[in-house]
Amino acid sequence: MQKKSKIYVAGHRGLVGSAIVRELEAQGYTNLLKRTRAELDLMDQAAVENFFKIEKPEYVFVAAAKVGGIGANKSQKADFIFENLQVQNNLIHNAYKFGAKKLLFLGSSCIYPRQAPQPIKEEYLLTGPLEETNDAYAVAKIAGITMCQSYNQQYGTNFISVMPTNLYGINDNFDLENAHVLPSLLRKFHEAKLENKPIVEVWGTGSPMREFLYVDDLASAVVFLMNNYDGSEIVNIGTGEDCTIKELAEMIKEVVGYEGQIYWNTSKPDGTPRKLLDVSRLAKLGWKYKTDFKTGLKKTYEWYKINV
Ligand code: GDP
Repeated sequence: MQKKSKIYVAGHRGLVGSAIVRELEAQGYTNLLKRTRAELDLMDQAAVENFFKIEKPEYVFVAAAKVGGIGANKSQKADFIFENLQVQNNLIHNAYKFGAKKLLFLGSSCIYPRQAPQPIKEEYLLTGPLEETNDAYAVAKIAGITMCQSYNQQYGTNFISVMPTNLYGINDNFDLENAHVLPSLLRKFHEAKLENKPIVEVWGTGSPMREFLYVDDLASAVVFLMNNYDGSEIVNIGTGEDCTIKELAEMIKEVVGYEGQIYWNTSKPDGTPRKLLDVSRLAKLGWKYKTDFKTGLKKTYEWYKINV
């Protein structure tokens, strides 16, 4: 990308899109295209086509998606598959149709097989059954990846796909029912502290393991890959380190300064037992994360206290 290239960040108000915009601006890219949902409904095929026809973005980051935690993924499967397919179809096809030089599509570590060997290498995609709690979302994302690969093959486009691990940071969704575990727990412990509640309910057994990457690091990685990687093979983005949900809960409890007890509600689902990414492909390309977990957690909590 040149500093004056026309770059469209789809989903620029979300956790990921807003971080990509911050990273691009910090690196001196000056010609960023952004559209709010009110200005451009990405589900609307004709509107997206018209937008690409007029603007002809040179580079496209597909950070627009319907995302959520285990609760939302399990209870709104129809919305997850329909909205994601619709949005990505519109963006990927029109990027091809109106000659975008390059597009970057974001997958997710939760689309690998539930029982994939750990750490998960890129080639394990589509080698086994999916995790049941998020299979609708996963099928949509797998379709997006296959679509990028197919357009590269048939039409010679340069569309790349990356697989981020669990992300967290500023501008996240802190909704108790629909959010991911990290923002949900920050909020639960924070509110329990303010209200002097003796007990905080945490879902599942605490034994599943998750890897967490601070969203500013993800943004740095995707801008790096946009500039340094061409190819149809997917690329994992993570830290290569994980912890149990129990350890996560203890860490959040400490950062928030909550002194009560944790109650493990085992009637709630655990989800995938583990999804640690093998990040050697990304390391070979020359990228590594910067923000250690404690620092990222503290930054996110500070932001939450001021903004939510
Ligand atoms: P996943 O990584 O796709 O499974 O999605 P989540 O981030 O929503 O959940 C990760 C793990 O955290 C699961 O094992 C959940 O059972 C567990 N967890 C514990 N408490 C919570 C909570 O309050 N909200 C969410 N979303 N997950 C929780």
